[in-house]
Amino acid sequence: MAHHCCVPFCKNDARYDREKLLSFHSFPKDENLRKEWTMKIKRDEGPLFRIRKHTKVCSAHFKATDFKRTLTGRRDLRKGAVPSMFKWVSKSLEHHQPRAHHNVQNTTNQQSVHTERSNMAAKMVNTYRSGKLILDVSKSSEKDNKCDKFILSHYFNFSVGIIIPGVKELPKSLKKALQQDGMSVYFVKQVPLSLLISPFFLENFCRKGRLYMMSHGTKIDTEDCVALLPSGKLVMNLTKDTYERLGLEGKKSQFHDTRHHRYVVILNLLDASFAPGKKTYERVKWAFTDRLNLFYNMLVSWIPHSCDVSSSSVSTFFETHGLFSVLVGLKDKTNTFTDIKVPIVNSQEPNGTVESCDFEDLFDWLGSVSCDCINSDDLNGFLPLYEASDKILTNCLSYETRGFILPQTVQKLLHDLKDIVVDQNLPFVALTVHGFNDTPTTWDTREHGFQNNGDNLYTYVIFPDGTSWCYTAIGAFDTFI
Ligand SMILES: [Zn+2]
Repeated sequence: MAHHCCVPFCKNDARYDREKLLSFHSFPKDENLRKEWTMKIKRDEGPLFRIRKHTKVCSAHFKATDFKRTLTGRRDLRKGAVPSMFKWVSKSLEHHQPRAHHNVQNTTNQQSVHTERSNMAAKMVNTYRSGKLILDVSKSSEKDNKCDKFILSHYFNFSVGIIIPGVKELPKSLKKALQQDGMSVYFVKQVPLSLLISPFFLENFCRKGRLYMMSHGTKIDTEDCVALLPSGKLVMNLTKDTYERLGLEGKKSQFHDTRHHRYVVILNLLDASFAPGKKTYERVKWAFTDRLNLFYNMLVSWIPHSCDVSSSSVSTFFETHGLFSVLVGLKDKTNTFTDIKVPIVNSQEPNGTVESCDFEDLFDWLGSVSCDCINSDDLNGFLPLYEASDKILTNCLSYETRGFILPQTVQKLLHDLKDIVVDQNLPFVALTVHGFNDTPTTWDTREHGFQNNGDNLYTYVIFPDGTSWCYTAIGAFDTFI
């Protein structure tokens, strides 16, 4: 008989305990003691929980002094011992696996940052934290403003993953949003930075509409990476060599260390002083033409200020300057699960209850679904799951698209998902956005470093009651606020 532990949130199972470090203990026969055990483990005897011979509590919930060794070496509980160690008492009891889909390297530097950030996060209302994972809960009344601002300032999105339990096909409204109508994306070869500060470009593209440009194919740890933000800021994350040769004023990268000498130069191209004839402008022009003629392959998208203008104008501009420009689309992948078990989540209880899983478990589940490594059998007995007889929940759509996805598209997707979760009465929907690995920024002008690629992503889970959960990594969360 395989044993698993019946304590909420405990994932201990004899099958995975090869070294036999754990022992599993039956409930005491004494009525009063038995009641004390069920009270301590926060469960109630009833239809959902019946105590049988094989209903066990694992040794992780007892103190060392609760045990005695028998002559045969077996570990037995002392008479009258009561479980007292729980996840809701001490975090040290967690048995979570490292999050493979949350690829964050730990450095000593990040450790100190970690403590500082956690203190900050602890002060925030409706914020939950575990390891590097941060959860921010928004109620329906406050959600839109905050969440739009958050999404719209994450400019360079490389992939969007959508998970919809209870659905087989990507809803039409989402398909439409993903066409990015009126927001064409181009790959332009060898764009000289001097062209981006030409008066015509500044006037017609920087100043009007919303422009998104990012160098493509350059590595943030070893090469120069540049981005032109819709705010008109040109962000250059440069190697020491480029920085010194360019001769423009910048500052040391926050990820500068003995092995990686990097510098960040930010120019506000829309500043009043940034105009031909003025000192700043002339100095930058000199740097980009006489000092160092920098050029990069770039991804470009321009959302025009008026519907009379086409978003392709920006491509035409580069072509008339002799540059190669090609339209790029999105590549997608759909995975439909037909017999998946979906965890029960209570939007108001991020820490979980006996009947619902906590935010970390949900995050793990979403990660497993998106990387197609879900195995429902493994979940049995660990997470509260919808019964398979509830037919609608046996399907689950996992969709991912990659390319250059504008924040406006992500915003539209999230708004559509909010309608879908209500209209179709789904338990929840999830949307995960990954930023580009080599973008110089994460949120707005916040620096993106080579050490923390994993921080450049976020996940929203939307519930039918209007509540939304927003997951970020601690590093990312802090650089946003
Ligand atoms: Zn246990």
